[in-house]
Amino acid sequence: MQRDIQAGPACGRVTLLGAGPGDPELLTLKGLKALQGASLLLYDALVSDEILALAPASAERLYVGKQASRHALPQDEIIALMLRLAREGRSLVRLKGGDGYIFGRGGEEAIALAEAGVPFDVIPGLSAAQGAAASAGIPLTHRDHAAALVFATGHLRADGQGIDLDWAALARPRQTLVIYMGVGTLALICRELVAHGLPADTPAAVVERATLPDERCITGTVTTLPQLALEQRVRTPALIVVGGVVGLRPLLQRKTPAAPDAAP
Ligand code: SAH
Repeated sequence: MQRDIQAGPACGRVTLLGAGPGDPELLTLKGLKALQGASLLLYDALVSDEILALAPASAERLYVGKQASRHALPQDEIIALMLRLAREGRSLVRLKGGDGYIFGRGGEEAIALAEAGVPFDVIPGLSAAQGAAASAGIPLTHRDHAAALVFATGHLRADGQGIDLDWAALARPRQTLVIYMGVGTLALICRELVAHGLPADTPAAVVERATLPDERCITGTVTTLPQLALEQRVRTPALIVVGGVVGLRPLLQRKTPAAPDAAP
């Protein structure tokens, strides 16, 4: 996973690092090593303080993150900053939540680095879908339920008019659909899926803050989930999981010691 394209001798090296879904222990060993050797970090909103704390105290930390409505730096400025620092001879770790190549704009950043001839490495991270699957007890594939797995974005189009997705393909039977960035559009997503042929009783879940101590998972069907999520005030970051595999959760969910007021 190493590329050196026309690297100038004085050029710094950029490490695009996926920080995993939230739980700092889900960082890869390779990621940990990169952090421990870092002198400069550029990090996003979804990267936890615990992960940042794994870098030396002396490392410089720059927040460049984005949240749906709060952009610290627009994407082209993040790229420009990264290129400038590398050209000044600074090596840096570019930290992103989950995996940078899954809805993380890592592709855009890697292309810019490659085109500029800046040497870079890509260290993958566990994506939120994988973290949520394990911690919520929802296998993403299962031979009886899903032979395909689709990751999609629930982000509204720039003009605010709906979501650019192939609904007929997403509504196919025997697949699991994981939707990132879909909390705000959950009702629209469920409506479109049913309108395109997904049975109205298909199990569906929303997993909020997956792998973190305050993770919540709310389950229902594509018909009931939007209302349930509203009632439970689900907030981002959260993932939507749709498909028969969601029905396995009662058996597979983590059995934590019951809280005093919890039902047995
Ligand atoms: N690159 C990241 C995704 C970034 S897009 C990855 O691979 O995971 C941001 C979206 O990811 C959020 O809107 C949410 O849908 C999802 N997400 C990230 N962290 C999450 C978490 N801990 N729990 C649930 N969803 C999460």
